[in-house]
This record gives sequence, structure tokens and C-alpha cells, in this order.
Amino acid sequence: MSTPHKVAIITSGGDSPGMNGAIRAIVRTAIYHGLEVIGFKYGYQGILDANYVEMNARSVSGILQRGGTILGTSRCKAFLQESGRKQAAANLDELGIDVLFVIGGNGSMRGAHELLKVWDGQVIGLPGTIDNDCGGTDFTIGYFTALDTALESIDKIRDTAEAFDRVFLVEVMGRKAGDIALGVGITGGAEEMLLPERPCDLDQVVERMVLSKERGKGSYIIVVAEGAYDGGAPRLAEELEKRTGYACRPVVLGHIQRGGSPVAMDRWFATRMGAFAVKAALQGANGVMVGIEKNELVTNPLEKTWQENKSFDPFIFEIQPMLSI
Ligand code: ADP
Repeated sequence: MSTPHKVAIITSGGDSPGMNGAIRAIVRTAIYHGLEVIGFKYGYQGILDANYVEMNARSVSGILQRGGTILGTSRCKAFLQESGRKQAAANLDELGIDVLFVIGGNGSMRGAHELLKVWDGQVIGLPGTIDNDCGGTDFTIGYFTALDTALESIDKIRDTAEAFDRVFLVEVMGRKAGDIALGVGITGGAEEMLLPERPCDLDQVVERMVLSKERGKGSYIIVVAEGAYDGGAPRLAEELEKRTGYACRPVVLGHIQRGGSPVAMDRWFATRMGAFAVKAALQGANGVMVGIEKNELVTNPLEKTWQENKSFDPFIFEIQPMLSI
């Protein structure tokens, strides 16, 4: 193994708050160790276009508290083709890159894995996504900020729901993963959480809504992950209103969940993972994603990101009905 001299960073796929903290940690740790650093703009597309900026310790000043990503991101169709990845490999070689750091979700990790089939440099992933849907890490960079953002809305919705004795259905992001819905549901005191991973039994939902009214509860909040019900919260609200006769109002939170200044936890993970990724690169790690498991920094094979099915703690589902009586 030869010692790396020059490294590159991309942020790819859906942006998440905290990506900037990861960029900062990589840049500064790499420079500290005498490495040259460049950042490609707009994810894999930037590698294909050789669109990059040279980075020094000052290029990452003042970004820790900023949402989004200073490098930009994209979904790059050309990279899905082997010809695109070969072009990217040629451009990386042309620029003398030894290590590529990919900050993104499990799609970006798949891309990284495919790139290694045609490029003989080192690739190290960092999990940057609000969805928390990457295997090989307990938490992804951006998840906690997305929870806080959604929570702020839920708290406001609760005020009006109380005032009008209404049922509100709040749709949060998560087509395939219910982590945001679960996190927001528990911390926002929702009466119901509907997740893509668990079949939605409408009869039972209706039963619980009626019971809750009988117990004298005014408001009722149902957190719905995007992928939990066909047609999302708007269609489900119509259906539940028809079945119960209660006024049911849908609220779709949408893209606000991606934005905002990263909360401390995301900056904490981003910083630790970024610095650890550089250390791992210097020790020759390749084809792995950095993660946090049981509060320990770890590396796992990239494949684990999309192959491992993280399961929810069953205790949460056990206590949720107790908490919403
Ligand atoms: P995320 O990383 O947030 O999950 P995407 O799933 O959109 O976002 O993936 C980001 C980019 O990663 C894609 O636009 C594509 O360029 C690349 N990518 C995703 N899956 C693959 C794949 N199977 N092979 C090659 N590249 C991929």
C-alpha cells in the first residue's frame, strides 16, 4: 500500500444538515497530516465534469453551523452506467487522487462500491442522510436535525389540534424507512405512528381514535412516514374522516425537513466521523463506510449500508401505547 498524498471529497444524493461539518473535519484532518485536498462540486457529476475546488484549512471556516453542503450535491444519472464510472476513474487518475471520500446516503454508497470495480484508488464513505436508513451505523449525519425540525412543527400543530379538538396527520420524510416518523412520533408525543416497515391496519387505527375520544382526549396526532400509506397523509386523512366522522387534517412537512442549521448531535457525529475517515484512509482502509455503533467509531464494508436491515427497538413499540393513553 502506498501512502496517500492527495484526497478528494464529494457530497452526493439528498443533502443533509451536518454534511458541512464532515467536509470540515476531513479537510482539516487531512491537511494536518500533510495531504492535498480537493472538493468536487455536485457529487459524482463533479468528478465526471472535473469540476472541483482546491481546499485549504480556511476554505472550511464558518461552515460547521450551516445546513446543506458547500460542495453542492446532485443525482448523477451518468454514474449509473459503467461508462460514466470509467470516465470518473480516468478523471480521478488524471488529477492524481489517491482517496475519495463520499458523503451521502445508501445510494451514494452503492455508487462508491461500483466505482471501486473500475478504479484502484481508495474509497471511504460517510453516512450523510436525514433518513437514518444506512446499515453499518446507528445514526446518520443529519437525522437528529431533521427530527428537531419536524418536532418544532409537530409542537405547533399540537397547539391548534388542542384548540379545535382535531385529528392531525403529519407526513414526514421516509419512503422506505420509518426512522424519522418513529423518532418524531415518540419525542412529539404522537398518539399514532405509521411506518413503511409495519403494515398499517386502518381498523385498529380507527378503534384507537375512538377510544382516545372516549377517554376524553381532545387532539390526536398521527405521524405518517411518506411510504406508510398509498397517497400519503392527504388520502389517509380523507379515509379516516370518512370512517370516524372526526375532522382529520393532513399536513405534509416536505423539504423543510432537510434544511436548517445542524443540531449539536449531527455536528458531533460529522466531526468525529470525518476525522476518523481520514485516519482510516491513512491506515489503508478501502471500500468501507465509517459509522457509529454503540457510540464507537467503526468501519464496515460499503455493502452493509444497503444490505443490513436495521431493526427498531421493540421496546419502543411496547411502550408507545402506554404513553398515549
Ligand atoms: P442517496 O445517496 O441520498 O441515497 P441516491 O440514491 O440518489 O441518493 O444516490 C446518489 C447518487 O449515487 C445517484 O444519483 C448515482 O449517481 C449514484 N448511485 C446510486 N446508486 C448507484 C448504483 N447502483 N450504481 C452506481 N451509482 C449509483
